[in-house]
Amino acid sequence: MLLTISTTHSPATDLGYLLHKHPDKFQSVDLSIGKAHIFYPESAPEKATVALLLDIDPIDMVRGSRNMVGKGFALGQYVNDRPYVASSFMSVAIAKAFSTAMNGKCNARPELVSVKMPLEAKIAVLPTPSGGETLIRKLFEPLGYEVKLQRHALDDQFTEWGESKYYTVVLRHTLTLQALLAHLYVLIPALDNDKHYFVSQGEIDKLLEKGKGWLENHPEKEQITRRYLINVGALTQEALARLNELNTEKVVEEVPEEIKQKKQTLHQQRLTQVLEQLKETKAKSVIDLGCGEGKLLRMLLKEKQFEKITGMDVSFGELIRAKNKLYWDEMAPKQKERIQLFQGALTYRDQRLEGYEAAALVEVIEHLDESRLQALERVVFEFARPKNVIMTTPNAEYNVKYETMEAGHMRHTDHRFEWTREEFETWATELAERNHYKVTFLPVGPEDADVGAPSQMGIFTL
Ligand code: SAH
Repeated sequence: MLLTISTTHSPATDLGYLLHKHPDKFQSVDLSIGKAHIFYPESAPEKATVALLLDIDPIDMVRGSRNMVGKGFALGQYVNDRPYVASSFMSVAIAKAFSTAMNGKCNARPELVSVKMPLEAKIAVLPTPSGGETLIRKLFEPLGYEVKLQRHALDDQFTEWGESKYYTVVLRHTLTLQALLAHLYVLIPALDNDKHYFVSQGEIDKLLEKGKGWLENHPEKEQITRRYLINVGALTQEALARLNELNTEKVVEEVPEEIKQKKQTLHQQRLTQVLEQLKETKAKSVIDLGCGEGKLLRMLLKEKQFEKITGMDVSFGELIRAKNKLYWDEMAPKQKERIQLFQGALTYRDQRLEGYEAAALVEVIEHLDESRLQALERVVFEFARPKNVIMTTPNAEYNVKYETMEAGHMRHTDHRFEWTREEFETWATELAERNHYKVTFLPVGPEDADVGAPSQMGIFTL
């Protein structure tokens, strides 16, 4: 299956910078169901074309039982059009091969990201549901594309068999490359009735993220949303409600967004500090206890030092979110070997927690009732007993610095307690002594002379 994107922008070779893929190199990325190859059939100042060739391994596809296609007849799983057509796999490949461009990043030439350039996308074979040509036009033309279609006969030798559902599609428009990729990412699977993915909550997030700025105003937004989410009614309704709210939300969200960002940077800072500490331990295996939606896990995966990474959380919903954010289904097999997730509770002894060199507990202890901390202590420090434990928790003294917080309140409704530096240090020191660990403390975030930093860290070593 082949997708090509060409430009006559001057100089056309800018395409290579934007895609973060060198025109002289043949590159490949691993997908869960095969490989995607990226190369440039032409690259000159007047015109450049990049090709994304999807090389689906039909056996992998059956083994992983990822495809929902062909379940209608016995050999359907083996004999189907998947390897040859632009299907939902194409979106996976686009997201993986061109992630930098999709995210609107271009370190070498940042100004290029917002440049609208003449682009032509050619999808070699696109399967369509009933509605064929009309449907393709309805989806692409409102976005400004000039659409050229060539329908293929079922068999050139037997014209009496009639037309097939397959089209070669050429789309032309002057727009940013990021916008083109987002349109293809959403609309190709919307046209595919045999999607390989299992639609879950995470699919709504992907749809809204990639549809941002155009889907909410698309005349066919309902049909696109419904098709993208494989007609799962409840999800479609939720997605549409969120789409419709987009405009009103912007106004209401303006102020909280700032606060959110501040919080975000603090959390990012905290995770970066935890990562630094974990790197210093030289541990090869690490378990993130109370991993939530897996932010730290994603950072750990980027570091080769960590060969075995595990996320554990009591909340199934958080684990699903973590899976989606890790793009679990699309993860290359080598990466997947390094990571695992499981559900568990920190207050019950669990053999699955044993055998790690390091453990992280980032903003977790305050979510447990104080009376359960003793159980956590035994589970982590007596039984699992990793050589290093990095733990963070809010510093309650700092709360006076949050203007929007009422006195005596906590930062999060699920926090059962928030400790001062002295309270945390006393608890942690006694715990370390009881279990023969050493502990040191570090502030997390910008430090205030009176009340300290927003968060605090305990570093335990055996
Ligand atoms: N460490 C993550 C999430 C912090 S929020 C981060 O820094 O982003 C706290 C997390 O602890 C939540 O995901 C919650 O589900 C989890 N949690 C709360 N009590 C738990 C318990 N008893 N066992 C395991 N996880 C727990």
